[in-house]
Amino acid sequence: MSQKLIVGNWKMHGSRASVQSILAQLKAAQTSRHTLVVCPPYPYLAMCAAALEDSPIAVGAQDVAASTHGAQTGAVSAEMLADNGCRYVIVGHSERRLAHSESDAMIAEKIVRSLSVDLRPIVCIGESYPQRQAGLTETILFRQLGTLTQKLSPEQLSRVAIAYEPVWAIGSGKAAPKNDILHAHRCIRQYLNAYGSHSNTLLYGGSVNPQNAEELLSIAHVNGLLVGGASLNGEHLLCIANTC
Ligand code: 13P
Repeated sequence: MSQKLIVGNWKMHGSRASVQSILAQLKAAQTSRHTLVVCPPYPYLAMCAAALEDSPIAVGAQDVAASTHGAQTGAVSAEMLADNGCRYVIVGHSERRLAHSESDAMIAEKIVRSLSVDLRPIVCIGESYPQRQAGLTETILFRQLGTLTQKLSPEQLSRVAIAYEPVWAIGSGKAAPKNDILHAHRCIRQYLNAYGSHSNTLLYGGSVNPQNAEELLSIAHVNGLLVGGASLNGEHLLCIANTC
C-alpha cells in the first residue's frame, strides 16, 4: 500500500497533561508507516510543534482566520500558525460550518490565506443525514467543491487535501458504508480532474478507529484518514498510522 496521510483532529479536548502523555506515546514510536499529523487545540500548538520538532510527525491547526491580521478578537491568522510550527490546517469542518455559520466562500478565503504561507489546507466536505436521505449527497459535494473551483486556480486547488466527512458518521461510532465512501470519493475525484486539479489527497473521516482503518484505506481514491475520537489515544492513533 502506498503511503497515506493520517490526520488526528483532537477537537476541543485535552489538557497540558493529557497532550504531553499523547506526545510521549507518539515520540516513543519514532516512525510510522504513513504520514502522521496531529491537530491540537490552539493553546497546545506551539507545545506540540516543539515536542515533535525532530520527529516525522507534523502539526496542524483546526481552523484559521480568513484574513491576515487586524482587529479580530479571538481570531488566529495563517501567518501565526506557520510561525508556531504548523504545516497543516483543517478548514471548513462541519462542526465549524454549523456552529459558526461558516460559508463556502469564507472557507475558500481561509484556504487562500493558508496556501499563501505554505500551510497545507485540509478542507472538509460532506452531507448531513437529511441531505443523504433526500438523495442530495452529490449535489452537496459539488456545491461545496464548486465554490473552491470559483475561487482557486487548478494549481492552488491541487495543493488542498479534501476530506469527505459525512456529517452523520462523525462521532456515531459507525463509519459510512464502503460503497458510500467509494461513490463520494469517485465523484470528488472526477470533479477535481474535470477542473484540472489532478493530484489531490482525498481523505475519509467519520468514526475511524484501529479496527476499520485497514478496510477504509483499501477503498479506491482514499489517500488517508481524518480521525477524531480515536486520535486522542496515542496508541490507537499510531495503530491507524501503521495500518498495512
Ligand atoms: P470521529 O472520528 O470522532 O467520528 O470524528 C471525525 C471528525 O470529525 C474528524 O475531523
